[in-house]
Amino acid sequence: MELDVNLRAELVKAVAAAIEQHADELTALDQAIGDGDHGINMRRGFDAVLADVANLSAKPWPDFLKGVGTMLVMKVGGASGPLYGTLFMALGKDLPAEPNRADLVRAFRNAIGAVQARGKSERGQKTMLDVLIPVAEVLERGETAVAAVVHAAHAAAEATIPVQAVRGRASFLGERSIGHMDPGARSSALLIEAVGSVLEKA
Ligand code: ADP
Ligand code: MG
Repeated sequence: MELDVNLRAELVKAVAAAIEQHADELTALDQAIGDGDHGINMRRGFDAVLADVANLSAKPWPDFLKGVGTMLVMKVGGASGPLYGTLFMALGKDLPAEPNRADLVRAFRNAIGAVQARGKSERGQKTMLDVLIPVAEVLERGETAVAAVVHAAHAAAEATIPVQAVRGRASFLGERSIGHMDPGARSSALLIEAVGSVLEKA
């Protein structure tokens, strides 16, 4: 139990640090094909989660994840706030109090489904889903090496560069959205890397 409290706190610190370190980069990506606020949005959200880390990490896994998701919905704003919020809230709804690997993989897939329903979006539209869905597939194939999962996440984010956006603000640019990495795909890869680095040591 105590171990889990520490693990949850470590996860919060790692994701908040990753977003903090890459906030300017996320904003620059969003300047290219959006309105230039993705880094600011994400930093505001994860700073708020970090500020509440002691309270959040004391809760069992389902309530912890629901709490993180609620905070993101309230603080991130933009399109990505409700979508990331939905991802974490759905994970919290689905996971048992003491999840095993299979529970995690199933809950991750279901949470992505909730994001898709919320965003009316699917893979291939140059969004965060272009990272989340391939990562779910890698996990479902039984991959246990964190490095391989993280590599898949970054490769999937890179693969959004030649894609024309179909959802989100970037879609307003039509063909001019081609040639830039999707900011939400990049933030998803960063979150997966941060979570992976903590779970690898747990
Ligand atoms: P906004 O677009 O409102 O300024 P952000 O800049 O914070 O919000 O987030 C933009 C990111 O949100 C995009 O890069 C994309 O990955 C993601 N996104 C936008 N719309 C959708 C959607 N309908 N489904 C999935 N992801 C989306
Ligand atoms: Mg934006």
